[in-house]
Amino acid sequence: MKIHKSVIVKQEVELLESITCNKCGKTTVLNGDEFERQIKAEGFQTIECEFGYGSKYDCEKWTFDICQECLLEFTKSFKYPHEVKEMC
Ligand SMILES: [Zn+2]
Repeated sequence: MKIHKSVIVKQEVELLESITCNKCGKTTVLNGDEFERQIKAEGFQTIECEFGYGSKYDCEKWTFDICQECLLEFTKSFKYPHEVKEMC
């Protein structure tokens, strides 16, 4: 038989404090409640590029954050437009 009791546990958690666009340097501080923080974070994308063996950047992994404005500027430079799929 197991008997449980409620206790308050003090726990240290890591919260994302801000996001900075690697391209333009724009920084957004993520403050407010969880919803507000989520909305602010949606203004950025994290891009990860993995280069396999034999590529020019042999076995490197690049990671950077980019704001929506810089991402749009980048995709507008494409010869062929990026694909868009509705997620909601
Ligand atoms: Zn930017």
